[in-house]
Amino acid sequence: MDRELVLAVLVVALTGLTLQLGARWPRVDFTITGSACQTERRFWRHLWLPLVPMALVLCAIAGWAAREPRNAERLPPTVLIVTAPFALVWMRAIWRTSQALKRRPPVGAAGVIGLWRPRIFISDQFCARVDRWAIAAAVAHEAAHVRHRDPLRLCVGQFVTDLQWPSRRAASRLRAWTRVLEFARDDDARLGGIEGADLAAAILAAVRLSERESSGPALTLTGEPTDLETRIRRLLEPAPVDTPMPSFTLPLILAAAPALLGVAIAGALSGETLLRMVFTALR
Ligand SMILES: [Zn+2]
Repeated sequence: MDRELVLAVLVVALTGLTLQLGARWPRVDFTITGSACQTERRFWRHLWLPLVPMALVLCAIAGWAAREPRNAERLPPTVLIVTAPFALVWMRAIWRTSQALKRRPPVGAAGVIGLWRPRIFISDQFCARVDRWAIAAAVAHEAAHVRHRDPLRLCVGQFVTDLQWPSRRAASRLRAWTRVLEFARDDDARLGGIEGADLAAAILAAVRLSERESSGPALTLTGEPTDLETRIRRLLEPAPVDTPMPSFTLPLILAAAPALLGVAIAGALSGETLLRMVFTALR
C-alpha cells in the first residue's frame, strides 16, 4: 500500500489519540503567584506540556518512516474509522487558524495588529480622550506585546488548543494564559518607567470606547472585562519589582532531546513489527 498514505493516517490517528490523552492535563487555577510575568510563563508552559505525548509519538513515527519499508501494510478499515474523528479535529483547527489569519479585528482604542510583523495601533478617538501620559502608557503596554510576539503566540496557542477540541480543560488553560497575559504586559510597561495611574486611565478610556464600538477578539488594551477591576487595583498599587527570571527553555530542550532520540530509534527498530502486529489484530 502507498507508504505515504499509511504514514499520513498513522500521524493523524496517533497524534489525535495522544492529543486527547494530553488534554486531560489538569486545568490551571487563575491565581497570580509571584510576579504576573512569571505566572504568564508558567501558564504558557501549561499550554504545551499536554503535547509531550504527541511529540514522542511523532518521533517514533519519524523513526519508522526513516527506515522506508518497501511495502507498507494495508490499512485495516477499523484504523480508517478510528482516524476519521481525529482528521475532523485537525481540519477544524486548520480552518479556524486560517480564518483567524484572514480576520482583521477592529481595534477601538489601542491594540496590536499583525502576526509576523506586529505593529501598534492607537485610534484617533482614543488620543482625543486621554492625555499624552496615558497615550505613552498605552503604547508601552502594546510595545510589550510586540516585544514578546504575543499575537503570534496567541494564534499558535489557539491552534494547539483547537487540536485538543472539545476538551474544556484545554480551553480553560488557554483562557487562563490570555487573561494573565494582560497583567504581565501591564507590569512590563511599569517596569519600563510608566506610571500605573496613567496606564489605568488609558485602560478605562479604552473600555469606554470599546463599549461604543464592540471590538472582536484581539490583543487590545482592554483585555478581559472580568479582570478590569483587578487590573486597575493592581495598577494603583506600588510598582512591581523587577525579578530576573531563569529561562527553562534550553534546559528542557537538552533534557528532552535524548528521550526523543531514544523514541525515534525505538520506532525505527521495532515500529514495522509493532505495526504489523496491530494491523493483524485489527483485521
Ligand atoms: Zn494588552
